[in-house]
Amino acid sequence: MTILVLNSGSSSVKYQMFNPEKKQLLAKGVVERIGMAGAMLTHKPFDREEIRLSGEILDHKVAIEYILSILLSKNHGVIKDKSEIAAVGHRVVHGGETFSESELITSDVIKEIVRCMDYAPLHNPLNLKGIRATQALLPDVPQVAVFDTAFHQTMPSHAYMYGLPYVLYKRHGIRRYGFHGTSHLFVSDRLSELTGKPLEEQKVITCHLGNGCSAAAIKEGKSIDTSMGFTPLEGLLMGTRSGDLDPAIVLHIMNQEELTMHEANTMLNKHSGIQGLSGISSDMREIEEEYNENNRAQLAFNVFCYRIKKYIGSYAAAMGGLDVIVFTGGIGENSSMVRDLVLSELGFLGIQLDDKLNRAGEKGEREISIKGSRVKIFVIPTNEELVIALDTMRIISKNN
Ligand code: ADP
Repeated sequence: MTILVLNSGSSSVKYQMFNPEKKQLLAKGVVERIGMAGAMLTHKPFDREEIRLSGEILDHKVAIEYILSILLSKNHGVIKDKSEIAAVGHRVVHGGETFSESELITSDVIKEIVRCMDYAPLHNPLNLKGIRATQALLPDVPQVAVFDTAFHQTMPSHAYMYGLPYVLYKRHGIRRYGFHGTSHLFVSDRLSELTGKPLEEQKVITCHLGNGCSAAAIKEGKSIDTSMGFTPLEGLLMGTRSGDLDPAIVLHIMNQEELTMHEANTMLNKHSGIQGLSGISSDMREIEEEYNENNRAQLAFNVFCYRIKKYIGSYAAAMGGLDVIVFTGGIGENSSMVRDLVLSELGFLGIQLDDKLNRAGEKGEREISIKGSRVKIFVIPTNEELVIALDTMRIISKNN
């Protein structure tokens, strides 16, 4: 059995093919520059060299056709016949309040995904394009939608409501939804496997620190709060996103700089965060390299870490205690400097980082707290595509 995982973006479709029973990755790749000159497919079977093919790839349907043909090809493929694809799992960014778990895609599910488009106008329409193209190309293969928001649907109303007129929640669904759900779910599940301790007995904070960043408070295995909100803009400082700010600033700047809504949106999402503060880069590696020479790199780094520290403190309070902190994502997994500053002076919460283990430069799943630390600290690499594949398998088995 194989499961194809698709992540359809504006000009790209990323894919991974799994044997879900063995949790084995068979191939991965991406089609980029869809609808533009220089469109390209990069494909890597797990046991052979990466290849690149260019071609005219006008839309998502052609992109997925390309992906299927390379997966079936004699020299670079990993399957012999389309019938070996048991199901396709699609990443869908926003599932609103309707979806608290993954769903087999039916016409009713599609209607709901369309309804959620207003919440994620940049993402859901593209995810849907991928779903419709796959339905046309593989009409007999079941498809499953796996939502970034679903894991956080367990948040209580006191965590997800904003202090705005209640009617806006009723009329427009204005509330906090949270994102990166598959990642927070994956690393918390792995944590319980690694420690042999059920999540029901643990209070965990997971920090997903990549280009986008979010923290989640997971109590008894359920997300009870998370830092992203109505959109993925809220919360921690990110590569190019501002994270938390006084909403009055947006109105003020729009007025002072005569910005349109689109321009303000671009400023907050693309020109803020680490990039905006440092004026150097959104890439944490470059910020770390410049840390000792450049004040603005230092400032961006310090703001980034301070905000994570504040969320850790507030989530410990929200859960009435803390047992484990997990770091994941490109920064969380690799930056000992970030983990060090984030966790400094948190000894009063029972958090004690082992400096040697933190800096050892190892890869993979590991514990980095000192032996007697009351709160354990783990690094667990995330694997969102594997979660999508496993959940897709679970949903199709349930529906068979
Ligand atoms: P995405 O959210 O796009 O999946 P990633 O999870 O790959 O992104 O994270 C990208 C971030 O991880 C970048 O800021 C990058 O600089 C950072 N990163 C990757 N490796 C390191 C490293 N060795 N040290 C510090 N930061 C790193």
